[in-house]
Amino acid sequence: MSHHLTAGQRAMLENTLRLRLQDLLRQRDLHQEGRSRVDHARQVLTQDDDDAPARASDREVDQALTDLEQIELREVTHALERVGDDDYGLCEDCSATIPFDRLRLNPAARRCVSCQGAREGSGPPAR
Ligand SMILES: [Zn+2]
Repeated sequence: MSHHLTAGQRAMLENTLRLRLQDLLRQRDLHQEGRSRVDHARQVLTQDDDDAPARASDREVDQALTDLEQIELREVTHALERVGDDDYGLCEDCSATIPFDRLRLNPAARRCVSCQGAREGSGPPAR
């Protein structure tokens, strides 16, 4: 499997992800108004789970964020862990390459447009 992204593209996406992560963490700190949750942020940054069982505890840890922010924090963290991997930028459902333009808008995208659309079905529109 070869990288479909150049090193420069990858670095750019990683940078975007890091900025977004900082943003979300800062927002969470604001919500918490001085309660020290640095340790929790660290846990979120270092966890390497992919699976549902961890979500219950995430929900407790991140209750200072809205649901959407919690989801985004998870997605961004997950993407940062994978940004250097061969399968970063590949659709998790059909393994198609996700176009750089799509990743640039949403570096945490895990699926190609059609798979994402299929998953979201008749739900609310994607961000
Ligand atoms: Zn797909």
